[in-house]
Amino acid sequence: MVYDIQPFSVQDGPGIRTTVFLKGCPLRCPWCHSPESQEFFPQLSWISMRCVGTKICESSCIKACPKNAVELGETSIDSRSGESIQLVHVKRDLCDNCGECTKECYPHALFICGTSYTVEEIMKKVRPDRSFFARSGGGVTISGGEALSQIEFTLALLKQLKAEEFNTALDTTGFAAWKTVEMTLPYTDLYLYDIKHMDSERHKQTVGVPNEPILDNARNIAAAGGKLQIRIPVIPLFNDDMENLKRTAEFCAELGSAVTSVQLLPYHNLGVSKHLRISDTPVAEATPPSEAKMEEIKELFEGFGLPAMIH
Ligand code: SF4
Ligand code: SF4
Repeated sequence: MVYDIQPFSVQDGPGIRTTVFLKGCPLRCPWCHSPESQEFFPQLSWISMRCVGTKICESSCIKACPKNAVELGETSIDSRSGESIQLVHVKRDLCDNCGECTKECYPHALFICGTSYTVEEIMKKVRPDRSFFARSGGGVTISGGEALSQIEFTLALLKQLKAEEFNTALDTTGFAAWKTVEMTLPYTDLYLYDIKHMDSERHKQTVGVPNEPILDNARNIAAAGGKLQIRIPVIPLFNDDMENLKRTAEFCAELGSAVTSVQLLPYHNLGVSKHLRISDTPVAEATPPSEAKMEEIKELFEGFGLPAMIH
């Protein structure tokens, strides 16, 4: 179950990459910048900016819905004509994600997020980009959601990528059984590995799962000779106190030469508007950390001999 395939990505590992985003994650980070990645099933998504209004398309989505789940919503101003347009609203409690309305929505304001792919279908998309990968030192990244939650598919894709000599990266929360992670080791050149908080109770309260399996798997990957690019989302009022960050830096330093770099990712609020594409429930929004704060954190990590960067 894939929700996006992004070619020419430069954020998901070394060089130019194609990133395959798998749908479904066992964590529930409130700051998630891809909330559409969290559930394991296909979901109806609605992008208000694309909606041309019911007058132009003759309320085709409302007429198409067999569950009466689409109703008139807010009005808005069309940025091109300056005219008022009538938007729609999806009653999420009635919607079963059947996708009938999307067939009638020509501007693709309504669309289903989440598609099943075979390994060969993915390979057909990445093979044409081999020369870009070769020139830039890039390859293919499997991301999510949590790719380890679909281990059968992830493993089959990693094996095929390696059989065709592609560089591979696995972007993971690290939350899985060790035997699951271990299976990926021979086929994964680099793990992009999130560390969110060193206190397990705080970790569980905020994202829904404890951190012990995540920290243990990182240690085991390092001991087994795997390479880790550690990623730390810096989230105000959650993990940005210097005591927690010092413990995180100590942990990364203990992993030794397995750590190729530490990426410090300042919180941003992109996920807030994306969340509204799939849900009416509001999510908490924070103020992004200042540049000075990020520099202070970077210096802390560098003080532990870690190659840190702000992204
Ligand atoms: S996905 Fe199906 S149930 Fe949901 S709003 Fe569209 S047509 Fe109605
Ligand atoms: S969601 Fe699509 S079909 Fe429905 S009013 Fe907007 S543009 Fe028209």
